[in-house]
Amino acid sequence: SIPLSFFGGIGGASKSGVLVKGSNYLEILANTEIVVFDKTGTLTKGSFAVTELRTEGVSKDQLLEIAAYAEDYSNHPISQSIKKAYNKVIDSSRIQDVQEIAGHGVHAIIDGQSVFAGNTKLMEREGITIPYTSDVGTLIYIAVNNKYWGHIVIEDEIKPDAAEAITSLKSCGVRQTIMLTGDSDAVGQKVASKLGLDHAYTELLPADKVERVERLLSGKNDKTSLAFVGDGINDAPVLARADVGIAMGGLGSDAAIEAADVVLMTDEPSKIATVIKIARKTLRIAH
Ligand code: ADP
Ligand code: MG
Repeated sequence: SIPLSFFGGIGGASKSGVLVKGSNYLEILANTEIVVFDKTGTLTKGSFAVTELRTEGVSKDQLLEIAAYAEDYSNHPISQSIKKAYNKVIDSSRIQDVQEIAGHGVHAIIDGQSVFAGNTKLMEREGITIPYTSDVGTLIYIAVNNKYWGHIVIEDEIKPDAAEAITSLKSCGVRQTIMLTGDSDAVGQKVASKLGLDHAYTELLPADKVERVERLLSGKNDKTSLAFVGDGINDAPVLARADVGIAMGGLGSDAAIEAADVVLMTDEPSKIATVIKIARKTLRIAH
């Protein structure tokens, strides 16, 4: 039978805005040794703002318009920011086809033209040479009918409690804090060093994230646990694979919330240390 104090632990977590989906997760949380984070929407706000446009042979308006049309069907935070910057009604009869390419970007047929919008990986795959890279923000490159049109710079913000989240995990005995991201190495390493994370793996595809977590799982002591924290549709497989999957409840995708064992109702990463401390206290009482 489950000790009564376990219910107290779940109740205490819930008062702190953390939903724990079962008493067994308290024990797993109490033994957390490694915490792996997704970047966008987890450690950063995931609300990008367009800060710059750079074009080649077309106007800035043309670039923003074709990008907004290509992104029309996507729900990715990047797509939202581009449509917000465009800020005009999209005539969907001009969009003949659309395809989202995980970890890369999108491909769409707009007015009969083939449009790619995404990262360096996508451009490399399509054989399009890109003239610029940057660590200031995330760059979204646009190519139309195989011709480079330019790029859009978008910038995200680190969550106000993200640095504190890492320090409090360290002070409650978590040995390793790791970030996984599909974003560029320049942006990923910058965020990781600002937050004092132990390690960052960047430019990962959704399948690479699963592989990385599996490797960390097989390398660790069986008595300790690995927690993964994420928010996106692509994070669901990793959330399910980790000893304990933690999702953002506010802005997180339904798929992530469903696949998770623990949900942070307020989207604050600092609540992870809070719930680990509650779990440890609960177990001491229960034992
Ligand atoms: P993260 O690991 O940071 O949550 P994702 O796996 O969702 O990131 O995306 C990784 C990268 O793929 C993004 O940084 C971006 O370069 C590209 N990308 C993904 N979706 C889109 C999109 N809808 N439009 C443009 N680029 C995208
Ligand atoms: Mg994400």
